[in-house]
Amino acid sequence: MARFSQADLAELNKAFEDRTPDELLQWAGAIFGKRVAALSAMQMAGSVICHMLNRLQVDMPVLFVDTGVNFQETLDTRDRIARDYNLKFITLQPKLSMEEQTKQYGILYLSAEGQKDCCEMRKSAPLHEARGQYDCLVGSLRRAEGGARSRCQILSVDTAMNCVRVNPLANFTDEQMEQYIADNQVIVNPLHYQGFSTISCNRCTTPVMPGEPKRAGRWRHLGPWSVYCGINPSDLASGASLAIDLPQELIDRMLGRTTDFSI
Ligand code: SF4
Repeated sequence: MARFSQADLAELNKAFEDRTPDELLQWAGAIFGKRVAALSAMQMAGSVICHMLNRLQVDMPVLFVDTGVNFQETLDTRDRIARDYNLKFITLQPKLSMEEQTKQYGILYLSAEGQKDCCEMRKSAPLHEARGQYDCLVGSLRRAEGGARSRCQILSVDTAMNCVRVNPLANFTDEQMEQYIADNQVIVNPLHYQGFSTISCNRCTTPVMPGEPKRAGRWRHLGPWSVYCGINPSDLASGASLAIDLPQELIDRMLGRTTDFSI
C-alpha cells in the first residue's frame, strides 16, 4: 500500500475539468474495475448518473443507504431505476431501526447535536460498513448546487472509506441537467416535482419556497447550521493533506503511468 493524498490528485483534477460526465464515468469504470460503485440517495443528479451507467454500459453497482425513514417515493424511484436501467442496487441499512434508536437515544433529529449523531448512525455508519470493498465511489455532487458544493472537486480522497470519490457531474449546470433529463426521459424522484429541491429522510426534508436556497428544505427545523449530513466528506472537510492508502499499481494506473487508457 502507498499513501495517496488530495494533493496527488491536483494535476488529474485540472486535466479532468474539460472532460464530459460520460468520459469521467468511463474512466472510473476502466480504472477501478470491480472495485468501484456509485452512491446515490435517489435525487435528480443520482438518477442522471444511473441513466448514464446504463446508456454507457459501465458496469458498477449502486449503493443506496436506506435510513428506514426515506420517503416511499424515494424507495419506489430506486426500484424503478434498478429495473428499467438494469442496475444492481446494494441497499445499506443502519444497525438500529428508527424505533429502536429513539427508544435508546431519544428523538435525535430535533436538536443540532442530535442530528449529527442521527446522520452518523443512519447514513454514514452503514456506508462505512462497506469500507475496504471499494477503491472508488462515484457520486453526483454538482457545483451548481451552491454552498460547500460550489467548490467540490471532480476527484477527492475519502479518508473514512479509504477510497477516491469521483463526481462526474461536478460541472453539470442546472440547465444541462434539465436538458439531459428531458432528452432521455430519465426516471426522477417525483418529489422533485412537488417542491423538493433536495430529498433525504422524511423527518428532516421539506419543500422549498421560490427564491429560497436549494438546501433550505433540509433540517429546516434546526436552522441554517445543519446543512450537510456528512455522508459526502467533501461537504465537511477538504485539504491537500487528506490522505488514503491504495495499492501502488492502482495509483500508477489512475495517474496514467501504467496504462494506455486516457481521456
Ligand atoms: S436526515 Fe434526519 S432522520 Fe435522516 S439520518 Fe439525518 S437526522 Fe436522522
